[in-house]
Parts: sequence; C-alpha cells; structure tokens
Amino acid sequence: MNNQAFVTLEEIEQARLAIAGTIRPTLLNASPSLEELLGVPVSLKLEHQQITGSFKLRGASNAIAGLSDEEKRRGVVAVSTGNHGRGLAHAARKAGVRCIVCMSKLVPQAKIDGIKAQGAEVRIIGNSQDEAQLEVDRLIEEDGMTMLPPFDHRAIIAGQGTLGLELLEQIGDVTTVLVPLSGGGLISGVAAAIKAKRPEVRIIGVSMERGAAMHACLEAGKPIQVEELATLADSLGGGIGLDNQLTFAMTRDLVDDVVLVSETEIAAAIRHIYWQERQIVEGSGSVGVAAMLAGKIKSAGPVAAILSGGNIDMKQHHRIISGEDVDVTQEDT
Ligand SMILES: *Cc1c(COP(=O)(O)O)cnc(C)c1O
Repeated sequence: MNNQAFVTLEEIEQARLAIAGTIRPTLLNASPSLEELLGVPVSLKLEHQQITGSFKLRGASNAIAGLSDEEKRRGVVAVSTGNHGRGLAHAARKAGVRCIVCMSKLVPQAKIDGIKAQGAEVRIIGNSQDEAQLEVDRLIEEDGMTMLPPFDHRAIIAGQGTLGLELLEQIGDVTTVLVPLSGGGLISGVAAAIKAKRPEVRIIGVSMERGAAMHACLEAGKPIQVEELATLADSLGGGIGLDNQLTFAMTRDLVDDVVLVSETEIAAAIRHIYWQERQIVEGSGSVGVAAMLAGKIKSAGPVAAILSGGNIDMKQHHRIISGEDVDVTQEDT
C-alpha cells in the first residue's frame, strides 16, 4: 500500500461548488417511530431521492468535472454494481462525455436497465467485480479511456463528502451518523467532512453480514480478498481492492465503529421504511434503519441515518413489503 493523504474539507467544499448544478440537495426527515424506539431524535437523510436514485451522482459528477479536455474527449469507463454506473452515466451524458460501464452477472436486471437508460454502454463480464475490472483495464490500455472507480478516488470521495456537509447544515446537533458501508467512499467523504467540523460526532458504518469486505479488512488490519455473496444489500457487494489507496486508511482512522446486519434485518428495514416512513429504499440504503430496529445502535443524542439509494427491483420490493420471505442467499449456500 502506498497511501495518499486523506481527502480534506477544502476538497469537499470545492466539490460542492463543482457539482451544485448537477445534483439536488436532499431532504432530512424526522422519524417519530424510530425516535420512540431509540429514545432520542432520529432523522433520515433521503438520499435515495437523489437524481439517478443514489448518492453516487455526487462523486461521479465531481470526478467528471475534474477531467482535462483530452480525457473528456476519450471518455470514461467504470466497473460497477449498478449505482455508480448509473450516476456516472448521468454525469457523463450531462458533460457530453462517452461512458462505458462494465459489471458482473450478479447485478440485478433493474440496475442494468437503469444504467442503459442514462445513456451509457453496458458490458456484462464474469462473476465478480474483479473479473469485470479486466475489461476496464483493456479499455484503458487500448482506447485511452479514463477509469473512474466507485470509491477509491479523491474526487469521488470528495463528491460523496458533500452529503456530510449538507447533513450537518440540516442537523447541527447530531451525535451519531449511520452510513451504509461497502468500499468506503461514502463513509470516508462523510466522515472527513463531519469530523473536520464536529470531531465529536460518531460515524458508524453499517454493512450486511454476508460479504462485508471493509469490516473483514479492518479486522485483518489490511486490505484482503473477501468472497462476494448474494445479499439484499446488493449495492454493498464487492471487495475494497488489494491496492486500496484511500478508503481503507480513511475508514480505519475516521470511522468509530462498524455494525453488521442480517438479511432478515435488512428485509425488516425495507418494510419499516415503506410502511412507517412511506419511502421506497433499496436493501443497501436500509442498513442503518436495520441496525436501529435490531437494537444495535445506542446514542445519547440525535441520530441521522443516510438512506443511500432507492434502486430496488420493484417486484422484489413488492414481495418484501407484502411480508413474503425473500431469500436471495439460496444461490450460493
Ligand atoms: C455504493 C453504495 C453504497 C456504499 O458506498 P461505498 O462508497 O462503496 O461504501 C451504499 N449504498 C448504496 C445505495 C450504494 O449505491
């Protein structure tokens, strides 16, 4: 590992200016039902209402804004479990830049369609993000395209960090922030922004039990290979990269704790968010609420949870909120 210096508050503030015309600020909603459960005020950051259905548009827009004219002319390429591709495709189209997104066969059809609808080319390759990465490497080598990775990149992290600044302005007295955690781009940016202004705020990452890569890497003390498994939180799948430059160290040093939730707990959260909060949120965006409902979060003061995305297959969502058992884990157990 050859770690770069952490992304700074200044970079995040610059990102905010760079993406102001591309993203929309999202609402923060109080949740009376979760407040009753936890005994402290709980608010939900409705980032699933972001354009393209997730916060990934923030990082992607900032990364595209930072490209040279020559890089813009050659186009951008990414490997993605869906939402990064969607955000990148939208940001690229807005900037008039060609975009190719490569992804593994584990990605649900709804997400593939979503990316195509944003105007990007999609290539489906292999059974893991690592295999899809080989095609990206070829496009960089042969066509001179620029890869924009989903999390381990300064401009991406700074873009995601704008969500932290926005949140602090909406809830100045927050004491605990729950952040869905996969590769750690979101939590690194949010933690960098919030800790720079209010170091005492606790930042807690939440991942699914099945294939929680960052959690396993933190336990190991270094980036390690982690098997990708089917999960309701499909946007949280995939490894952090053995050559991780930024998000491993930033998560290790800035994040206070990581909590894991089961498939049953994620399904319960999707249901709660629908029936109690009247929102449609995907599994990955529901993990903070899952942790609260499961009694895994204690806080002396106000809690905010980021609902990070809403791109769920609507038939699957319908089955879950109707109380059916939806078990996506069968295919690999
Ligand atoms: C990508 C994604 C995450 C995780 O973000 P990382 O930066 O990889 O940690 C969480 N929720 C949703 C909906 C996502 O698309």
